[in-house]
Amino acid sequence: MSIETTYKINEIFETLQGEGSFTGQPSIFIRLQGCPVGCSWCDTKHTWEVSQTKKVDPKDIIFKTEESETWGNFTVDQLEKVFFAEGYQAKHIVITGGEPCMYDLTPLCIFFESNGYSCQVETSGTFDIKVSDECWVTVSPKVNMKGGYKVLGTALLRANEIKHPVATEQHIDDLKTLLNEYNISNKQIYIQPISQKKRATDLAIQSCIENDWRLSVQVHKYIGIE
Ligand code: SF4
Repeated sequence: MSIETTYKINEIFETLQGEGSFTGQPSIFIRLQGCPVGCSWCDTKHTWEVSQTKKVDPKDIIFKTEESETWGNFTVDQLEKVFFAEGYQAKHIVITGGEPCMYDLTPLCIFFESNGYSCQVETSGTFDIKVSDECWVTVSPKVNMKGGYKVLGTALLRANEIKHPVATEQHIDDLKTLLNEYNISNKQIYIQPISQKKRATDLAIQSCIENDWRLSVQVHKYIGIE
């Protein structure tokens, strides 16, 4: 695929990464449209459908001020122009969704890495991960979700970090089952409470201490940024 590959993008914005290893890192977020995984607690349900009736001009995506199901087609060249036009300072790009691994992200990663950026993808691990070798891969495994997609061993093995959302003991058990099934012991494991509720947070803290995992608390939600 060439850099003329287009990506269906829901929004682009600059903020601080609030989760996992890159917490606090100034980042440009590219949110891709489309996800069939069906997590009940998903906080980006507006990215699930790729409806032609919601397709808009790319400039309407740049100036978007609130969540919506609209999306626009961008080439990587167009994305770079947006970064300059908006005056973005960050040199770290977070490719998220939706489920970004429904797309071949390799051309996007290679283009921006060759222009001085680092790239990170956040994925559910249910699709083949097509990124550059240098891209930091965050797999947030979604087990037994409504869409019926299975977490792939290849995704877990490619991951640089595994960031697991938890609200119940079952979620902890699901993670341990995955780690055992694929014999994964050398990854950074982050446990992230699904909500900011005390019960989920207490469970996450307890499981981190018991298993020598790390806590990820979605800092952006505590400090009121996107
Ligand atoms: S994989 Fe992500 S975007 Fe898709 S439903 Fe689950 S939380 Fe939402």
